[in-house]
Amino acid sequence: MPDLFNLRGVSMKYIGAHVSTAGGVENAPLNAAKIGATAFALFTKNQRQWTAKPLTEENISAFKANCAKHNFEPAQILPHDSYLINLGHPETEKLEKSRTAFLDEMQRCEQLGLDRLNFHPGSHLKLIDEKTCLATIAESINQTLDQTQGVIAVIENTAGQGTNLGFQFEHLATIIEQVNDQSRVGVCLDTCHTFAAGYDLRTEEACDETFDRFHELVGFEFLRGMHLNDSKKELGSRVDRHHSLGKGELGLEVFKYIMADDRFDHLPLILETIDDSIWDQEIALLRNMEN
Ligand SMILES: [Zn+2]
Ligand SMILES: [Zn+2]
Repeated sequence: MPDLFNLRGVSMKYIGAHVSTAGGVENAPLNAAKIGATAFALFTKNQRQWTAKPLTEENISAFKANCAKHNFEPAQILPHDSYLINLGHPETEKLEKSRTAFLDEMQRCEQLGLDRLNFHPGSHLKLIDEKTCLATIAESINQTLDQTQGVIAVIENTAGQGTNLGFQFEHLATIIEQVNDQSRVGVCLDTCHTFAAGYDLRTEEACDETFDRFHELVGFEFLRGMHLNDSKKELGSRVDRHHSLGKGELGLEVFKYIMADDRFDHLPLILETIDDSIWDQEIALLRNMEN
């Protein structure tokens, strides 16, 4: 067993998982530290409800104190927004509801001193075309950035399930192009979603090709985090089903590739794998791949 503290001192990779906030957001850094993580993701409110009570001063100060105690900087933390939000919603009233909820999510990040918020771009629901939906998402981002400071809107690529957009790198590029302040928009790539969307990652050559394509169309300068998940479903399935590392269709090559590549340095690398009882082992596995 390598000495994690020594390795942490020299490591360029921030590795962790999407941890629980049961009992309050301030518990997230504690839960992350328990599994040997140097990064974490969290929901700052219940992800299945539209509204939540505001964070209290106690929540905020305890969160900051616990992050400081365990050496978590903003660049190691990737908050995730509610699943209900659709920033590309075709219907005005529902779009407004989503924009209001997204603004609240961004403001919570501001309050916690965090610098990025990960979200799923949106769905056209077969009511508008892709181009209109992508423009609506960009406009939602613009409106939110105008009302907040210091928090980057981080678009997650999707598996392309249902009518979700963001599964092609071109979708991400089209949204970013229409954002006024490009210093405050970014991207999170999920390995399971990338693969399910049809980009192969099973070999070193496939990883080269996929990530080169990403760089050409979007650019690594926009990358603000990664979700490290294996996939239960096959290449191009357009179905979003995560699996534990090495247990799905992806295999371990892509994770070795990421851990050895400095384009993924200093970013939150977050497990959303299905068995949280082995997250500590998955983090140690990734850590070993780095050396
Ligand atoms: Zn994800
Ligand atoms: Zn997913």
